[in-house]
Order: sequence, then structure tokens, then C-alpha cells
Amino acid sequence: MTEARSELENETEDDVVLEYEDETTGSVELEYEEEIESESALAVSVDVEDWYHVPAVTGSSFSEYEDVHEFFDQWDEEYDYLTEPTHRTLDLFDNLGITATFFVVADVVDNYPGLVEEIAERGHEIGCHGLHHECAIDPDTKEPRFTREEYKEQIGTAKQKLEEATGQEVVGFRAPNAYVGGWVLDVLEEVGFKYDSSVARNSLYNKTDQRLDTVGTTSYTPCFGSLDPGGDRELVELPWPYYDAKLGKIPAAGGPLIRLFGRRVVQAGIEQSLRRGDSVFYFHPIDIARESFPKVGNTRRRPAYWIGKGWRAERRVQKLLQKIDVPLVPCECLFRRAALE
Ligand SMILES: [Zn+2]
Repeated sequence: MTEARSELENETEDDVVLEYEDETTGSVELEYEEEIESESALAVSVDVEDWYHVPAVTGSSFSEYEDVHEFFDQWDEEYDYLTEPTHRTLDLFDNLGITATFFVVADVVDNYPGLVEEIAERGHEIGCHGLHHECAIDPDTKEPRFTREEYKEQIGTAKQKLEEATGQEVVGFRAPNAYVGGWVLDVLEEVGFKYDSSVARNSLYNKTDQRLDTVGTTSYTPCFGSLDPGGDRELVELPWPYYDAKLGKIPAAGGPLIRLFGRRVVQAGIEQSLRRGDSVFYFHPIDIARESFPKVGNTRRRPAYWIGKGWRAERRVQKLLQKIDVPLVPCECLFRRAALE
């Protein structure tokens, strides 16, 4: 029996999901049935990276290979687990009538000929997800992993590569692995980006180099050199949603969370966030990849990397997008709304 088929047969109803939710978030009262009265919109976004872009395999202080170049020097087996689920993502959006933002790792242009071009031709916004998906700050120390000049060069090259491939101006950025700091946003603005969507405040983790007490879930203008709201500049931050529960703030932005916590928790977090204003949802094509990935990488640091991927994640994403009752738009729309305010 193939992995895909056995996953499908196990996925009869949401019982599995609820059991998991009970274990992890037992006392959360979910209010997902409540109607959203505001005129908020939800940006739908997709982070286009392959299995070897994750920090256990490349581009972090604890990765198996130092970077994508070293990976390709040494890897002589099939590497492309991205193209097929990206096509399924595009078909899903066609079926649901959704125009989304695809934050693409720029080296996808070189290693998956025609894929980025196809995403753009099918009407979606192209955003940038780094050149090789390297963490900008060290996950352990939160110190910059590059000088400002190195980072500027890297991000400028990525933007240009994506623009040349698609003919679109690329104005949106999502930090690889969501490791971000105020200095990263400053460099983005210098390079010509107009918005970033990476900042995730919640009670489970903080991937930034500062406290996020003043950050909420709605679009804001960050101060220079900081992720705090209240700045006077063009760059806009589209932060990620969370579910504000008595026991803390549960992250609810998408892909990995929908695999680990189930659709209901993510949906509750998004719907609660939509009552505060515009919000953002994201997933990865590799969240819905049905094939097993090569068993490579420092999984000691990320043991739950691929739990629940495949059919189950795809069903959850589809159901979520069908159930959210506000306009589903690309990120650029949220940026424009924020810029007009
Ligand atoms: Zn990523």
C-alpha cells in the first residue's frame, strides 16, 4: 500500500485531529462558529521551498549541509519533491477561485525550470522567500548570520532573479524560517521591498531578536531598526495570526500548525484575528507533498518536521479555505490597504 493511500484511509473524520487538540490545547474554548463582522480580509500565501531548504538540512547553524551549494555538490539522487505539490496547490486555488501570494526561494528559478514562471502566468503574486532560504539570524543566539552588506547583496539578487523570471515587480518578502529582526526589515526597504510578512507573536516561540509585546495580528508600520509598531516609513509588516486564549497566545498562521494542531485551532486563531483586522494564512506545497522525503537532516532539532503532511494536510487546508467567510486575497492587497490608512 502506498503512503498516500494509507494516509487517506486513516483520514476518515476529524476525530484524530480532535484527540490531538485535546492533548495539547485542552482548555481552549474555540469560538470558530462566531461570525466575523468586520470587513477584514485574509491574505492567502504559499512558501515555495523544497525539503532540503529547511534548516535541519541547509542554511542554519545546525544544518546537515552548510548551504544549498554544498547540498547540490554532494546530493546525486532525485531532489525535486516540490513541483508536483505546487501544481496541486495551483489547481486547488483554481478550483476555489483564489488568487494568492507565492513567496518563492529565488534559487527555485534555477533548479525547477518553468515553475515560478507558471505560478506567475496563472495569475498569482510572486513574493521573495530569500535566495537559498538561509536563516538571517542564528536560531540559537539571534545574532545576524550575515553582515548588512552581505544580506543586502543576497536579498537584492533574489529579488532581481524573481523579477527577471516572471516580469513582475516583487514587493513582498517572507523571512526564511521566519527568523527576522528589525535590521532585516531595514535592509528589505533599502533593496526596494514594500512589505514583509514574517513576524509571529505567540506564547510558544519567538524567532526574532527582540520581545514582541507591542505586536498584534493586524498590519502595521514598524519603527526603524525594530519590529515594534509606530514607525513613519513606507514598509508595512503583515504579522501572523494567533488565538488569544487564557493560557496564552497560540500561533495560527498555517502550514506546520495545521499539521500539528489540526484545522480547528488554526481556523479559530485566524477567525479571532480577523475580528481584529486583516490577517494572513500560509502553507507550503511540501506540507501537502504525498511522497516521503529523503531521511536526511538534523531531525534531533526538529523531530516533528513532517508529521501530518500529505493528504491530511491538503484536506485541512482546503476545508479551512472553504470555511473562512471573508475575502481571500493576495498579500499585496493587505499592504495596499495598510498603506492607504
Ligand atoms: Zn520557508
